[in-house]
Amino acid sequence: KDQSKIRNFCIIAHIDHGKSTLADRIIEKTGLLTSREMQNQILDNMDLERERGITIKAQACRTVYRAKDGEEYILNMIDTPGHVDFNYEVSRSLAACDGAVLVVDSTQGVEAQTVGNVYLALEHDLEVFPVLNKIDLPSAHPDEVRQEIEDVIGIEAHDAPEISAKTGLNVEDVLEAIVQKIPAPTEDAEKPLKALIFDSVYDAYKGVIISVRVREGRVKPGDRIRMMATGAEEEVVEVGYFGAGQMIPCDSLDAGEVGYITASIKKVSDTRVGDTVTTADRPCEEPLPGYKKVQSMVYCGLYPADSAKYPDLRDALDKLVLNDASLFYEPETSLALGFGFRCGFLGLLHLEVIQERLEREYNLDLVTTAPSVVYKVYKTNGEVIELTNPSNLPDPAEIEYMEEPMVKAEIMVTKDFVGAIMQLCEERRGEYIGMEYIEETRAKLTYTLPLNEIIYDFFDALKSRSRGYASLDYELAGYQRSELLKLDILVNKEQVDALSFIVFADSAYDRGRKMCEKLKGEIPRQLFDIPIQAAVGSKVIARETVKALRKDVLAKCYGGDISRKKKLLEKQKEGKKKMRQIGSVEIPKDAFLNVLKLD
Ligand code: GDP
Ligand code: MG
Repeated sequence: KDQSKIRNFCIIAHIDHGKSTLADRIIEKTGLLTSREMQNQILDNMDLERERGITIKAQACRTVYRAKDGEEYILNMIDTPGHVDFNYEVSRSLAACDGAVLVVDSTQGVEAQTVGNVYLALEHDLEVFPVLNKIDLPSAHPDEVRQEIEDVIGIEAHDAPEISAKTGLNVEDVLEAIVQKIPAPTEDAEKPLKALIFDSVYDAYKGVIISVRVREGRVKPGDRIRMMATGAEEEVVEVGYFGAGQMIPCDSLDAGEVGYITASIKKVSDTRVGDTVTTADRPCEEPLPGYKKVQSMVYCGLYPADSAKYPDLRDALDKLVLNDASLFYEPETSLALGFGFRCGFLGLLHLEVIQERLEREYNLDLVTTAPSVVYKVYKTNGEVIELTNPSNLPDPAEIEYMEEPMVKAEIMVTKDFVGAIMQLCEERRGEYIGMEYIEETRAKLTYTLPLNEIIYDFFDALKSRSRGYASLDYELAGYQRSELLKLDILVNKEQVDALSFIVFADSAYDRGRKMCEKLKGEIPRQLFDIPIQAAVGSKVIARETVKALRKDVLAKCYGGDISRKKKLLEKQKEGKKKMRQIGSVEIPKDAFLNVLKLD
């Protein structure tokens, strides 16, 4: 196969700058598909993605383009997930490419993820070139944006095509640039097979479908393949590529190509993103660099709002995990919530996406408990517990000390925001490791930070304090001893186990106060005062009250009938008593997650 006719690329952009629209146009303009056949936004094939504007699963799409030089080129367009929770998957998708088309909205200019994405692409040695989109809009100012790209990002932009992904104007120029600027692969097809897995999805008919970039060698049906990290082995049933959402089988995938492999693999967990595929009878010596086992970073409890739906929730999780090897779950019970599951996620967004899919695709109404990272508890009797659920924390008298997970964070930021970002890191108990200027305009800051300080809202804070010009990459960096406490929340004097969480001792008071304030805003007023308290052990450290709703039942019966008045008063009292007796204050289901998000 002629590698000089292959281009492997991705499109990167700030959200809403037109990445999906351009992808659609490219598919349309390169044949294989007519617009009639085309569904709206083929690459974002999940409803949820479309609505939230994020791409969860990486996917590759192959088209054929006849260039102005008269030659036909195979274009492999690789879609990248768009959020830091999926950072590792993004990095593997980029590793499968040779170049990137940078879409910049010419009415907006360079923004948050424009810079972040370019940094990531450059780290993977991709050839990046910009295109100026939305040129059809009257507010487009392409010349200024061109200059901005050169000044802020430092990449060449004078010949960036001015396009409208919407109308299709000048999209050919993008295709020509892909052919001319992005290097063709030059890899050896005769060596032992070495292919990078950058996506794996479960299909009810074909089993696991893995997306690969073949780096060396070739793979064909009948080969016995081995996943180097997981050790799983299977015989290849089919190889091929995705032609606009359809699977198109072919004879072999050779060095330089992007496509899929099916091998009646039952579990996606056998085919981890980042792993290297080789053949069992002629394995390559070394796997491709950069494999990381994806670890759950955040745990929380998921409970059905209606406890009768517990089996449904279990079935739904069983199905979701087929497709998402990074989702973990096991049964647990809560005093407040009954039977449910303790689930592990890559981050808070991953949690929200799963929660939303369960609610939407499986019609479940869920209660989510306070998310937590995994702490290590060293007990006085020598036992060590990995604590994923704060309410399982042993009695403080039995605890020798505790450790919390740390991360090494690398933050790329343009020089104007270095000060603001350093301040943010310090507020989050960060320990400065170093700073290095990669270029004149951008610096790399390295910090060690406690995972629990960055898991909830650090990414948002980073973006707002840098006006978006910062990107974050982090990896777990072991555990560190720390002064930690369990903070309990009492609603109407009753401890709500689902709201307990572990906190750094010095922040306990502040956190407790903020949680009470937040919770106060989340709990609707009822017929009686509801005290909300934060406590460490038996010591209450913060308190708020949800004031009773003054439902003045008497106002309705003017004058007259005393016995009726009495009756009403009795009734109201009864109502109050009932609520108090049961101690059941209705806490809205979103409250559990909302109170954790600080500003
Ligand atoms: P993404 O978030 O980068 O994938 O952006 P989308 O492709 O979803 O586009 C975001 C919005 O911009 C959508 O409403 C598109 O219809 C619109 N859009 C994309 N390209 C153009 C363009 O060239 N001109 C105009 N007027 N709108 C565009
Ligand atoms: Mg999109």
